[in-house]
Amino acid sequence: MDNQVKIGTRFPLTIKRLDINGAGIGYYKRKITFVTGALPQEVVVAEVTAVHERFLEARVHRVKQPSPDRVPPIDPLYGQVGGIELAHLAYPAQLAFKRDVVAQSLAKYKPAGWQHYDLRPTIGMAQPLHYRNKASFPVRRVNGHVAAGLYAPGSHRLVPLTHFATQRESTMHIVTTLCHLLESLDVPVYDEHQNAGAVKTLIVREAAATGESQVTLVTNSPELPQQGPLLAAIARELPTVVSVAQNVNPGRTSLLWGPTTKILAGQPTITETILGKQFQLSPQAFLQLNPAQTATLYETAAKALALTPQDRLVDAYAGVGTIGITLADRVQEVRGMEIIPAAVADANANAARNGVTNARYEVGTAETVFPRWLKAGFAPTAVVVDPPRAGLDGGLIRALHQARPAKLCYISCNPSTLARDLVALSRDYRVDYIQSIDMFPYTARCEAVVKLTRL
Ligand code: SAH
Repeated sequence: MDNQVKIGTRFPLTIKRLDINGAGIGYYKRKITFVTGALPQEVVVAEVTAVHERFLEARVHRVKQPSPDRVPPIDPLYGQVGGIELAHLAYPAQLAFKRDVVAQSLAKYKPAGWQHYDLRPTIGMAQPLHYRNKASFPVRRVNGHVAAGLYAPGSHRLVPLTHFATQRESTMHIVTTLCHLLESLDVPVYDEHQNAGAVKTLIVREAAATGESQVTLVTNSPELPQQGPLLAAIARELPTVVSVAQNVNPGRTSLLWGPTTKILAGQPTITETILGKQFQLSPQAFLQLNPAQTATLYETAAKALALTPQDRLVDAYAGVGTIGITLADRVQEVRGMEIIPAAVADANANAARNGVTNARYEVGTAETVFPRWLKAGFAPTAVVVDPPRAGLDGGLIRALHQARPAKLCYISCNPSTLARDLVALSRDYRVDYIQSIDMFPYTARCEAVVKLTRL
């Protein structure tokens, strides 16, 4: 044990690799040290920011020997806000990192045959900047002005943003204009200390295919002072905003959305197009955040499933049904399930609107609905699962072993739970390949599509 190390202690450190959060890993007197902002092969002077029993946390005080992949941070606010952990890493090296995260997770959980898995090079973006179609920014008064942005890491101190490397420019233009309008109309914005003021959060979403935008003002109470003049100004100054909503979310809470949403002006939804199908998005409907890569992700899943007109496809963890509806024309039948009732209603409405008659969605967990379908005699031939970070429930894995569909595609946003689930799935399935796809350039987040074939 080293009792000398405390917060502020500095020492030179050689960085071995990046951890799953994009921090550099080195060993100081054999103790694992996570250094924010350090890159593999670098020698840095690390400064300790937290001391734990089994590990240290540190930041880069100085880079002594830079990595050839180090670049000037892509955004001037790097280090002051989250969401761009890899801003200092060249894009090709980011893609290699995302493949390596999958490899590290496999080495930890060791599913059958893992050493021989075909880990394909990550599919990146040609233009990896300004991709996010949605901004959810807290609004506060900062230095006397209404501002929206992101919190500084580990705090509730707002860092105002008018441009951001990962955010579509049009979403930032709308956020900035809304801040000006709130200020000039004297609409009170939220004050967290006093739990006072009206507007807490601005949520702006843009449909890339149509250019339509949707604004949701999250407020502390049902009252929105200056509502009339504000809506008139939005109509005048932001012509792409075709849908304005208010969500009421009272009090101090870490939740973004409160229980009630109402449309204040314009249409209730905006329309996005994915692989030729149209999706109407109500303010709270979930949609992938990177429109250009979403089509690539779904095509990669379709290729992994090698769909035929005879297939009976299950779209598990379906959201608003985007995967099943975009693939429905290629198969005999699609069934999907999802736990959020509003999303399921959207999914069925989206199917109908696109003239898709062979897809239907049900409310419920994958682990209860899928076994129920099996019991009723349904025999799927292809299954796509797209679970949240927690991965697959054991009940679903058992049901998959029972149903034994010939083709299985696992879309994962968390390599750790993916590797864990592959331990169980590899009893009945061969892992043909793992294709990582970069859905979130300049962040450490990693998405992967796995093609599995029944043994
Ligand atoms: N496939 C969709 C959504 C993926 S996000 C798309 O590409 O847009 C994962 C979804 O799984 C979320 O909508 C979440 O509400 C849902 N979900 C979470 N736990 C679930 C469970 N146990 N069973 C079914 N759906 C679940």
